[in-house]
Amino acid sequence: MKALTIPLIFEAGRIAANLTDCVMYNPFPEISAGVQFPLSRLVSGYLNGHYSLKELYGYVERLERWAREEVKFRTPKQLNTLVELTAIPFCFLLNRIISSQSLIFAPEMQFYIVRQEREKAVLKMLQKMRNAELSAIKKADARKISKVNEIEGLLLGYPECCVSSFVKLKKERAEGKNVPSPEKVIAEEFIECGLAKITVDVIKGKLSPNGLPEESYSLFATNFYPCSLKCANAIEVGRSYGHFLDSIAENVFFSGIIANMASILAVCVEMGLYHTDIVKGFKRDASFHSQVMAKVYELLRN
Ligand SMILES: [Zn+2]
Repeated sequence: MKALTIPLIFEAGRIAANLTDCVMYNPFPEISAGVQFPLSRLVSGYLNGHYSLKELYGYVERLERWAREEVKFRTPKQLNTLVELTAIPFCFLLNRIISSQSLIFAPEMQFYIVRQEREKAVLKMLQKMRNAELSAIKKADARKISKVNEIEGLLLGYPECCVSSFVKLKKERAEGKNVPSPEKVIAEEFIECGLAKITVDVIKGKLSPNGLPEESYSLFATNFYPCSLKCANAIEVGRSYGHFLDSIAENVFFSGIIANMASILAVCVEMGLYHTDIVKGFKRDASFHSQVMAKVYELLRN
């Protein structure tokens, strides 16, 4: 498994552990970069009235078919060490992360790594997700993007309580209600329960001898926001995943969790909720997130 990076094993391992049939991961950055220009041109062509929404998605699907062929040649064999997997490219035309009262067009190609025998079922879910996005665009209704978030959360095997709480907050924010973003809820909890301080200590080279704190198990997937760091369902998934990964690869679970903690720490710092002196050695012209992640991966390699 040496040719596979820790983040890839950490993500794709959830499929092998039978926790999900699908994870989001991009092992083909050159393909997504290659389609970025045509994809952006297509969206601006649609926005300028050169063609219909139906034609736009027709072109997008052609790009996806091209990418699927490319992926076949580039998938590293080692990816199938634990379970037969396949990668599915999928384009989003709207930004589904930022909560806004209006639609934000931000086309990008994403990859889903899927258990091969479940490919058809996953494609069906992806089609549902596309229909939800299409309906948001047709009705110019940002609230409808929360449907995209809901389908994606369940597709990725996240606990239902976490998906519905994420979707509720996103929807309320799209309606203009004064509720915190799911990221902010977790960031505040992360500081409150001491995880921010522990993460800073780890980055400074002071690894805790007591192992991972209970709440950190809820951060078992990259880009996943549990309903709470104390969510019993998320912690349980994290615990069983930890047992599984520890049995097949040393330190991968620990490293993945530490990387996710560093990523939440970056959210805390970038939101201005937390201050730490580790920024001292950081450059001003690069994001805290990219620098803290580089530091963590350097630390974990050694
Ligand atoms: Zn939950």
